[in-house]
Amino acid sequence: MNATIAAREPQAMIRCVTKIYARFLLVGFALMPAYLIAYLFFFQDPGIKFEDHLFHEIAIAAATLEGLFVAYVTWQCYRSSGEPLLRWLTLGFLGFVLVYALHGAFTGMAHHNIWLFLLYGPASRLVMSALLLVGLLSYSRPPDPVAKRCERRGWLVWIVVFVIADLAVAWLAHTRSAGSLAVRLSMEGGALVLSTLNVAVLMLRRIRTPLMVIYGISVTSFALASLAFILGRPWNHMWWLAHAIFAGGFFLLSYGVVQAYRTTRSFATIYSQEELMARLAQATARTESALQDLQRTNDKLRHLAATDSLTGAANRRQFIESVEAEIGRAQHGGAPFSLLALDIDRFKAINDAYGHQAGDDVLREFVQKCLDAIRPYDGVARVGGEEFMVLLPQAGLDTALAIGERIRTTIAGSTFEAGSGRRGEVTVSVGASQFGRDGKTIDTILRAADERLYSAKHLGRNRVVVA
Ligand code: GH3
Ligand code: MG
Ligand code: MG
Repeated sequence: MNATIAAREPQAMIRCVTKIYARFLLVGFALMPAYLIAYLFFFQDPGIKFEDHLFHEIAIAAATLEGLFVAYVTWQCYRSSGEPLLRWLTLGFLGFVLVYALHGAFTGMAHHNIWLFLLYGPASRLVMSALLLVGLLSYSRPPDPVAKRCERRGWLVWIVVFVIADLAVAWLAHTRSAGSLAVRLSMEGGALVLSTLNVAVLMLRRIRTPLMVIYGISVTSFALASLAFILGRPWNHMWWLAHAIFAGGFFLLSYGVVQAYRTTRSFATIYSQEELMARLAQATARTESALQDLQRTNDKLRHLAATDSLTGAANRRQFIESVEAEIGRAQHGGAPFSLLALDIDRFKAINDAYGHQAGDDVLREFVQKCLDAIRPYDGVARVGGEEFMVLLPQAGLDTALAIGERIRTTIAGSTFEAGSGRRGEVTVSVGASQFGRDGKTIDTILRAADERLYSAKHLGRNRVVVA
């Protein structure tokens, strides 16, 4: 007892420590981009540049295609589960793609109007982080109704909004204030603040489902990407690193979306391994208890199928089965066994005198008295209206005679309830047979016992005949 408690205590402690360790690992992992940013910030010359337009265009074309695909998969998840978070996530991806594509498209403009090229980057991140934050705030809201999920107008309105945002950025790029640090900083800084807020909300609300953990790490990457963009300058290493960090977050988030698509199509109802184990244990317990119920019902049914409902004695089928089993045993060198065939004498007269109900009571009492008179391992079966058989394992005819006599005298010596407080007397005739001596099949020994029972009747009833 003490040993089990002692064994449990360190286990509980290790569980607790591993849980905390796992949390630290997640935070450490989520902050990985921060280490890279710090490294570049402190050890690299910010003046070193890698200006390759084609590479930038290809990377952004790939990001746009991927973004479209992820938006589509997210939309499919939303249509299936109706989770409001997924609607905002779809819009976030879509908005990002529609604004960010122009950042790639205008790469060539870098030397003509650098702002037309540059501003679409922070603008796309600002749009996406805003939509993701709204999405997180709607986490755990009830699913949208099916009609709303399929509505096209809402999506079209949003696409128009994104196009207007594109036009607004183009307009901004052509204004005098385009080059001001304030414009660029307010967009990138806005994205940084919104993403940080997103992570803070996630932590404050203690949302820890596995997909939301992935979501949290992704949004942390988005925040750190914005930080790197603020610290970087176009084409330098920090700027490229910022792209890579953002891409990493995007990949991870789309991994989460794909996981949702392949399972429950919802972000909230993907369970952690711990939850799954607990659910599995619950389901197993339920199944086991159902199995036990079934077993009990089965036992009950088996008992009912083997029993005579009036007297509780075995029925004819059960009796035949027991005799067959006994024959098998005797054939394999077991001791011989015997049978008794019993028939209550002039039972019809009992029914006639006291009524059928009283007759039933007599039958019940008769079985009880037989059971009192036989050995514990002998069995009484009701094989007809007032006809019974007793199986006597390991008994020769002499034992059968002795037990038969015991039953007969017990019955003859007692009175039976005959309704309205009256007591009547009953006698029984018995025929006996022994396996081996009177035959080696079930038919022959049953017939021999029956024939002797009829002899007993002819000889005047209330007697046992064994030969
Ligand atoms: P015998 O001494 O020759 O055996 O005479 P008996 O009257 O017992 O024989 P018989 O076969 O003529 O009648 C059997 C009677 O048993 C007829 C029937 O009404 C009665 N009986 C059969 N099944 C039941 C039952 O379930 N309940 C009641 N109360 N009576 C039954
Ligand atoms: Mg009869
Ligand atoms: Mg009878």
